[in-house]
Amino acid sequence: MKLWQDKIRRVTPYTPGEQPQKARMVKLNTNENPYPPSPLAAEAIRRFDTDRLRLYPDPAMTELVEALAAYHGVAADMVFAGVGSDDVIAMAFQTYFNSDKPILFPDVTYSFYSVWAELFGIPYARPKLDAEFRIDASTYFGENGGIIIPNPNAPTSIYEPLESIEEILRHNRDVVVIIDEAYIDFAGASALELVDTYDNLLVVRTFSKSRSMAGMRIGYAIGCAELIKALNDVKYSFNSYTLNRLSIAAGTASLKDEAYFAAQIEKIKATRAKTAARLKDMGFVFPEPAANFIFARHPQRRGEDLLAFLRERDIYVRHFKEERIREYLRITIGTEEEMEQLFCALAEYQ
Ligand SMILES: *Cc1c(COP(=O)(O)O)cnc(C)c1O
Repeated sequence: MKLWQDKIRRVTPYTPGEQPQKARMVKLNTNENPYPPSPLAAEAIRRFDTDRLRLYPDPAMTELVEALAAYHGVAADMVFAGVGSDDVIAMAFQTYFNSDKPILFPDVTYSFYSVWAELFGIPYARPKLDAEFRIDASTYFGENGGIIIPNPNAPTSIYEPLESIEEILRHNRDVVVIIDEAYIDFAGASALELVDTYDNLLVVRTFSKSRSMAGMRIGYAIGCAELIKALNDVKYSFNSYTLNRLSIAAGTASLKDEAYFAAQIEKIKATRAKTAARLKDMGFVFPEPAANFIFARHPQRRGEDLLAFLRERDIYVRHFKEERIREYLRITIGTEEEMEQLFCALAEYQ
């Protein structure tokens, strides 16, 4: 072995959901939105002056940051934006998780958290969700170096009431607590209403799911000005120009279309309710879904077998080979027609 080989930083990367390049498929594997982004965002892209691409974008992303601040009714110095929430969270890990004590996140959760912790050399521990995949707040009361919890959780789709999140915050005033709200628009009350009370709370959001803009890569975080300042200092020490000009323009425009946004969310929630009822009729069991996906298993069928069966019919759902959840499928809520195709296929399964 050569010396340089020995010195390479080796990591086990996160495995993103498959992005098959097929014209005809039912893609229910990465929680994308089945509906197009706001026509206002499309319009902003069409009208974009490509001559401007010569110039670096505004490193402070002022236009988007101010639009987000106005949208959420917070000061602009409480908002940070990045290239999808993955970028924002990775930056937050580097900024806030700098302790010898382990950071905490659930044993069943978004699998990127442990990948970042490994990459950045951050110690971590994973409090167990209970038998119903619910968070027991008291498992987050011990000494730790910080906390990250998605609410609703992925891949379970379970929403924890804000009281439970606040209980965790009350017991952790000395570390940064990140609530990853990638799916909050499909669920209930947001932890954003707690940012004025808890200066150690960072709430992270994305345009990828509820705003139908996964391809644009826009994420953001809201927290007290001091938290945001620290995050920006790390960002400017790493890559000052994160969001490109087109993303800033399209993202800003999308925020101006509340009526369209609300209508798409309602459509997805209605399809989710119908999908849940039909899955139940077929004997599937699953926790009450609060996100744009359902995390289901069938008592008489293997997760892997269902996955393979659907795949042969060009229907893609997500399966995780982890011990506690290997019999489950995570099924994104698509259009009504897509769900119909899923049920046609499932009906054929023997
Ligand atoms: C999809 C997802 C993200 C990442 O979203 P991007 O903004 O597309 O990077 C972060 N956290 C959770 C829990 C997600 O499901």
